[in-house]
Amino acid sequence: MSIKENLKKIQDQIPGNVTIVAAVKSRNIEEVREIIDAGITNIGENYIQEGELAYSQLGDLAQSIRFHMIGHLQTNKINKTLAFCDLIQTVDSLKKARAINSRVPYSNKLRLPVFIEVNIGNESNKSGVLPEFTQIENLAIEISKLNNLHLQGLMTMGPVTENPESLRPYFRHLKIIFDQLKAKHIPNTDIKTLSMGMSASYKIAIEEGSNMVRIGSGLFGPRKR
Ligand SMILES: *Cc1c(COP(=O)(O)O)cnc(C)c1O
Repeated sequence: MSIKENLKKIQDQIPGNVTIVAAVKSRNIEEVREIIDAGITNIGENYIQEGELAYSQLGDLAQSIRFHMIGHLQTNKINKTLAFCDLIQTVDSLKKARAINSRVPYSNKLRLPVFIEVNIGNESNKSGVLPEFTQIENLAIEISKLNNLHLQGLMTMGPVTENPESLRPYFRHLKIIFDQLKAKHIPNTDIKTLSMGMSASYKIAIEEGSNMVRIGSGLFGPRKR
């Protein structure tokens, strides 16, 4: 099936309130153009170099796309990230949030939408805040005091598994945390997006309350590298 057909098939299966972010790591510019041509307006980047390249190769078209940083963000790469990204999904500490906040004024952006990344499986090899409400709430409160950031949601990767059904309890847990956080109505935040679910797990994630899914291989086919 073509990229366009893959997208159509996924769109037909998901509710209209769910945003699809095309995860384009390792894809070439033709593939990126094809998915934009098929109607995608949200692109997820994992790597600075790939993001910069796609952004420049797309030219004017890039202005109509929202670029999300979905990969681990190193502090020394923040300026480069802000040059092409409109949203950072992977804020995993107050230190990182402060570093991003201090650099936003030097980009041409006003307030940068950010999500807190939650390490929902409590895995030692993954970044993200531990799935513990008080800890997440405290980070959210601190981020809300940073004038150049606008906290809008939570994001998670979830443990790697052969059986996506095994992710259901993790997704359910994060949805509970998300709802609790939203209910706090922390000033200067707008907790509205729950970014969870990838190609193998998006259906389960949506059943458990996700409203943003990040899809790579389900759109473009298996990664070659
Ligand atoms: C690669 C990636 C995805 C998409 O993964 P697929 O299994 O190819 O759909 C989603 N989120 C993040 C953070 C990724 O790195």
